[in-house]
Amino acid sequence: MKLHKNGYLEEKTTVQPYCEKHGAFLADRFVEGECPLCGYEDARGDQCDKCGHLLDPLDLKNPRCKLDGAAPIAKETKHVFLLLDKLQGQVEEWSRKSSKEGAWSNNGIQITESWLNEGLKPRGITRDLKWGTAVPLPDYDNKVLYVWFDACIGYVSITANYTSEWEKWWRDPENVSLYQFMGKDNVPFHTVVFPSSQLGTNDKWTKLNHLSTTEYLNYEKGKFSKSRGIGVFGTSAKETGIPADVWRYYLLSRRPETGDTEFEWDGFIAANNNELLKNFGNFVNRIIKFVNSANFDSVVPDHTKYDDAEKSLEKHIKETNEILTEYRQQMEAVKLRQGLATVLRMSSLGNQLLQDNRLDNALAKEQPDRCAAVVGLALSHVHLLASAIAPYMPATALSILQQLNAELLIIPDGEWRGNTVEPGHKIGKAAYLFSQIKPEKEKEWREMFGGEELKKAKAEKEAKAAAKKAEKERKKAKKAAGGAAKPAGEGESVEAVEKDGVQSKSEAGTAVEEVTEGTAQVTLQTS
Ligand SMILES: [Zn+2]
Ligand SMILES: [Zn+2]
Repeated sequence: MKLHKNGYLEEKTTVQPYCEKHGAFLADRFVEGECPLCGYEDARGDQCDKCGHLLDPLDLKNPRCKLDGAAPIAKETKHVFLLLDKLQGQVEEWSRKSSKEGAWSNNGIQITESWLNEGLKPRGITRDLKWGTAVPLPDYDNKVLYVWFDACIGYVSITANYTSEWEKWWRDPENVSLYQFMGKDNVPFHTVVFPSSQLGTNDKWTKLNHLSTTEYLNYEKGKFSKSRGIGVFGTSAKETGIPADVWRYYLLSRRPETGDTEFEWDGFIAANNNELLKNFGNFVNRIIKFVNSANFDSVVPDHTKYDDAEKSLEKHIKETNEILTEYRQQMEAVKLRQGLATVLRMSSLGNQLLQDNRLDNALAKEQPDRCAAVVGLALSHVHLLASAIAPYMPATALSILQQLNAELLIIPDGEWRGNTVEPGHKIGKAAYLFSQIKPEKEKEWREMFGGEELKKAKAEKEAKAAAKKAEKERKKAKKAAGGAAKPAGEGESVEAVEKDGVQSKSEAGTAVEEVTEGTAQVTLQTS
């Protein structure tokens, strides 16, 4: 309502397709019909799949409602628009500063810049839908707020529902840093629309500080598609019987931080069997079991008496601290994928410690002091490892702490000394952190999660690409025949892709085009 009072909202009348049969306005993609450009019969209201042009649903020939096939009519409807154009200067100044201070990820900066460079346009923030947040204005009983206008406001209202002290978080930009994580398709709502709404109130708000945006995770070299049953999703992930922590590990270790990444079943199984089981799990299990054995009967020996004349244990502590420093820096910079790889290096180093010192019964008998020192250091290393893995794999961290019979260690800001597990402390019983996944599972899961559908989707994609290429060549031939001396590339940007007054992004060059794919400022989608 403050935006309203400050003159940043405006009511406008637009014309939208309306289905009289089921009595509702239709989102662009719920209208189908014949493409006015190429005549394709199953074009969608927002885009023709055959010729690739963006369309206006009201331009389709013989349009029909996707739900019931009735012909929609053009009907006027009133909507509230957020005047982003009036806020452009403010949001530009804010985003240039924040993106630097908060070290936004590269694609986040590029997407935001492309919106700003194009010039912000008023955006409809209400929709003709039944489901949603009511609009607090007269005559808006049949309309609701657009989800991307009110979803971000939800961050604030959720906090306010949780605690009456919500302003401590949301009204204190000097002391609170807001970190946000999202896929690149959601960037503009967080870097342009929501900050504009905040700025337009003229009030003091905590605004986005660090932005961590990802590229896309693909599925077996294709695309995940819930509607077509391609890929593995929440509930079915559970049905595989693989613990949530293993999923967390695999997905975070392939987090698409700098480019698209692939979900692949063979990689998933290898990650579990090699990275988690052989490296991480083996280290923890080996040392806990050794302390459980008759040598110590689960009681931590006195590891303070050994004279480390060769400084080999000192060297281990030094190397661990080096890795720990990297881990801290990566976590501060929200390099989650790198941070997780660093944790795995930390557990490799633990395995190294046991191997270098040949930890076994003979060592316990022949060099008890040295053995005790290695055991103390290794247990401490496991203790540290639990804390380092805790943000990624909470159940694994908890299991390690139970086996150590210890509290979670606060990762030291300074040096780690390798002495957090005291002599005389009694540890718990060893338990396996991970179990082997049989290689046969690869085939089974691949078939279960859309193998056939995936093949079909790939074939369709190839056919489409071929059709597009043929079309391009046809145009080229036509142009050459007509002798029209257009500069290269102009053909594409002229005829295309202008929709609701938004220019095509195709002139911005392929790199940006890829990043901004699907994120251009198309104005009024009803969903
Ligand atoms: Zn209908
Ligand atoms: Zn077409």
